[in-house]
Amino acid sequence: KDAARAILERVEDRSDNRLGVEAMELLDAYGIPMPDSEIVDAPEDARAVAEEIDGDVVMKIVSPDILHKSDIGGVAVGVADDEVADTYETLITRARNYQPDANLLGVQVQEMADLDSGTETIVGMNRDPQFGPLMMFGLGGIFVEVLEDTTFRVAPVSETEAREMTEEIKTAPLLRGARGRDPADLDGIVETIQRLSQLVADFPAIMEFDINPLVATPDGVAAVDIRLTVD
Ligand code: ADP
Ligand code: MG
Repeated sequence: KDAARAILERVEDRSDNRLGVEAMELLDAYGIPMPDSEIVDAPEDARAVAEEIDGDVVMKIVSPDILHKSDIGGVAVGVADDEVADTYETLITRARNYQPDANLLGVQVQEMADLDSGTETIVGMNRDPQFGPLMMFGLGGIFVEVLEDTTFRVAPVSETEAREMTEEIKTAPLLRGARGRDPADLDGIVETIQRLSQLVADFPAIMEFDINPLVATPDGVAAVDIRLTVD
């Protein structure tokens, strides 16, 4: 909690309320698992980071002005080490074309989550004027808009409430291992919902956040994409 407080104090006077790197630091302070990643601002640095990470990597444009990265071609999945430098240039060019005056902080080079065995879920929070901090859980990725399969609880949520959330969405059978798939790490999801609900209960300055996706595989969960706003 002290680590999280220090991070929030550091960003207090900033004009931009949407946190990038600091959002990851906050989640890390509350023990939320994330794929290995680093943000770089040169193609050769991107390559060096990719070589440190096992297998292919994901590369994403990092900019407070670009919220939906894949909409502008700002996410490259499954990039091999020898493609990393070119991909860096491609992502920067796309972002520049999309918005010439965008503040580009660099490119995130991230370890791949296993989407073959994993399910994309979403965990979020919004402060509701009536109910206070509302935790949301649902199916993530491209399905979230189509299926509107989400459920809500007021933070902080108990373990029982967090478990209920994972059980009451329509697509819960998917997480439990429908059609011969291995079940997702439900305990990991429950723990993540609880820890995040504790984070927002501890810090009223956090106005909203979205983890989309939180990838849940049989072996664990990983917060792959995070948006977080402070007041
Ligand atoms: P945005 O939501 O801004 O478009 P994301 O970081 O969520 O950007 O990436 C978009 C999609 O790309 C994700 O929903 C997921 O399907 C895929 N993706 C992103 N990062 C990873 C990763 N580390 N491993 C596997 N797939 C990823
Ligand atoms: Mg996303």
